[in-house]
Amino acid sequence: MLEVKNARMLYGDLVAVDRLSFTIKPGDIFGLLGTNGAGKTTTFRMIMGLLEPTEGEVLYNGQHVGYHNVNEIGYMIEERSLLTKITVKELMLYFGQLKDMEPRVILERLDYWLDRFGITDYKNKKIKELSKGNQQKIQFISAIINNPKLLVLDEPFSGLDPINTEFFVEVIRDFQRQGAMVVFSSHQLDHVESFCEELIVLEKGKVIIEGRIDQVKKDFKKQNIKIKGDVDVDKLKAIPGVFQVIENVDQIIVKIENDDAASRVFDYVKTCQHITKYDVEQASLSEIFIAKVGQAHEKV
Ligand code: ATP
Repeated sequence: MLEVKNARMLYGDLVAVDRLSFTIKPGDIFGLLGTNGAGKTTTFRMIMGLLEPTEGEVLYNGQHVGYHNVNEIGYMIEERSLLTKITVKELMLYFGQLKDMEPRVILERLDYWLDRFGITDYKNKKIKELSKGNQQKIQFISAIINNPKLLVLDEPFSGLDPINTEFFVEVIRDFQRQGAMVVFSSHQLDHVESFCEELIVLEKGKVIIEGRIDQVKKDFKKQNIKIKGDVDVDKLKAIPGVFQVIENVDQIIVKIENDDAASRVFDYVKTCQHITKYDVEQASLSEIFIAKVGQAHEKV
């Protein structure tokens, strides 16, 4: 179990992380989300024992992270700072041996992962000869080469195309199935919805959103209705509980406050002609974030 308990980190006067608490259990995939400078990397450095929290503590299976347990952890740092003049094989031998792995095991696992990522031909290539996306795969492999029980991934998807993102997600899910704990960060709020159940969204070191993603969305109440057909936009705007109507080229998006407004919009749309689409969707995480950040600013 990973426990972040009331962790606070100050850099001089700047509060980079403000009393952050969360728990991750085996088999959990936990998302730490937020815009640039929110405090994600600082949190990861506290988890890895590279930064001592100003207040609070971080415990991995009841202990601080240090030499005695770091071999069970995989950490993919945000800066893509691979040693670029050596080959993929040399780099992996270096990282693996730092984790007390035998060279034979490192090379067996490297072959497996290179094959799985479809980059077997790069084994003896220098890192600097690889594309950015392939360097990122190598960085990811260096974090998982020791079969970690805790996987800490700082912006693993940043800059990846959708196909490679899906590849990474598949591997992360495999670790989850094996009972590993996974914590990853992302500044792209919406694309994590499909695989991360539990999350925290930070803004300037403070928790803005937290909990299970389905519950967060349910609690927010606001929804979007997407309609195609002959509807009168002015009539939609006049329905109580409708706070915005967006006319896109291919559809109309009606933003509503709650379920009651949804039934009123439905009652009106039933009276219209040629309706080919009527979808009610919960607000996206980005919409919830923007609304909550607005509220936080109003309170100041
Ligand atoms: P990004 O997505 O841009 O990487 P982040 O969420 O990882 O951002 P952090 O890198 O943790 O955010 O930074 C949180 C805050 O702490 C920022 O305001 C940053 O400028 C500041 N900060 C980070 N490292 C230091 C440091 N070593 N000294 C002083 N301030 C720092």
